[in-house]
Amino acid sequence: MSFFEKSVEEVVKDVQNGDVSAASLVEKSLKIISEKNGEINAFITVCDDYARKTAQNLDKLSAQDKKKLPLCGIPVAVKDNISTKGIRTTCGSKMLENYVPTYDAHVVEELKKAGAIIVGKTNMDEFAMGSSNETSYFGIVKNPRDLQRVPGGSSGGSAAAVAADMAPLAIGSDTGGSIRQPASYCGIVGLKPTYGFVSRYGLIAFASSLDQIGPMAQTVDDMEYLLRIIATSDSRDSTNCGKSYAGFEQKDVKNAIIGLPKEYLSDDLPANVRKLFDEKVKYLKDKGAKFIDISLENMKHAIATYYVVATAEASSNLSRFDGVRFGFRSKEGKTLDEMFKFTRAQGFGEEVKRRIMLGTYVLSSGYYDAYYLKAAQVRSLIVKDFENAFAKCDVILSPVTPSPAFKIGEIGDPLQMYLNDIYTVSVNLAGCSGLSLPMGKVDGLPVGIQVMAANFKGEYAYAVSKELEKTN
Ligand code: GLN
Repeated sequence: MSFFEKSVEEVVKDVQNGDVSAASLVEKSLKIISEKNGEINAFITVCDDYARKTAQNLDKLSAQDKKKLPLCGIPVAVKDNISTKGIRTTCGSKMLENYVPTYDAHVVEELKKAGAIIVGKTNMDEFAMGSSNETSYFGIVKNPRDLQRVPGGSSGGSAAAVAADMAPLAIGSDTGGSIRQPASYCGIVGLKPTYGFVSRYGLIAFASSLDQIGPMAQTVDDMEYLLRIIATSDSRDSTNCGKSYAGFEQKDVKNAIIGLPKEYLSDDLPANVRKLFDEKVKYLKDKGAKFIDISLENMKHAIATYYVVATAEASSNLSRFDGVRFGFRSKEGKTLDEMFKFTRAQGFGEEVKRRIMLGTYVLSSGYYDAYYLKAAQVRSLIVKDFENAFAKCDVILSPVTPSPAFKIGEIGDPLQMYLNDIYTVSVNLAGCSGLSLPMGKVDGLPVGIQVMAANFKGEYAYAVSKELEKTN
């Protein structure tokens, strides 16, 4: 099943021509949300009134004015760490339970300008820290493909919303895999764009040198269509590349050189996932793509490096939540210092506190050189590995995760949980892009294939993904 029988671009044309009303699209989305959200818990906030009012206003526009809106009337779900003016933005945390931003994130401005309708804010692991969506203050999200299982994280609410047809499009954020891994577990398409491609202005920071906003959808074309709307230049994010994306140049798969990293395809990869992967490789070979073996030697250090860099940055970014400037303030404590302590002890969940402590530790004098500096050095080796690989190939293929979605509560050990990110974190450390799309099913559950591309060079990744999608 899919939200639309046709592409988002075609539905937009129908709305522009007056064949379909924005109100009917919003009603459809809100109806499915009201039927399914009680169980799936993909949304923390549903913006019924706002969405209906926006749809009414859009429907009143002239055909000419509608034609200026490339997402006219399309319902979109936005992850709850992305600021929305006048709509609470919780980051999945008690700390921001009642926080209502006074401004829109850049991507939200772009969505609104394009005539998209935000139907709600999606559930997520607290402060985007997690791989299962079990750490949200607002409760666990269930995977629409199997309600016993996690949807992945941290953009699990966005992935579940798209997979359950609650909205045709969603926005997520990816610091170490949080768009790609839930896309894989829920059987949808998600992209972690090149670092700097989409402005992070208004994204509540987790680890600023890794965070990237990206699109999620049911098809590669819809995902790319949404990317065109949100990837516009923005001087308010100093890491933004300053260019607006106008669409990928068309490339032919038969001219693609595809790298297969031996470190990703070792014996550790379960045979059933490997089998699906090999079938896709064969299919692309039959289409004329050329394959080469490559090595990303330092990939073995990627998880350790990521969890040092990410926690260090998180400990710094999250210091702003002190009970004074944002959100929750504990009523306990007699002195200012005590108020800080109680606020942070009560406002943050267990995983967030674990990361703040780890991050503070690796940055502390005496340990900085041994951990943070080392991680920064290894990170540059990982960047080099990717640069060397992309000198020889146009895209790199790998699985997104070693297995399909696991059962809710199945992984209790944080270190075991971190291992889920084995195939995704290096892309964030290197800054390049990673696209996740369905590659088939293992035991009836979806698993994804990852198409990685060099910085700002997504043409072949797009062509390869479109070709792979035909096999689903
Ligand atoms: N699972 C990773 C983590 O917990 C990635 C999270 C993310 O990309 N936001 O850090």
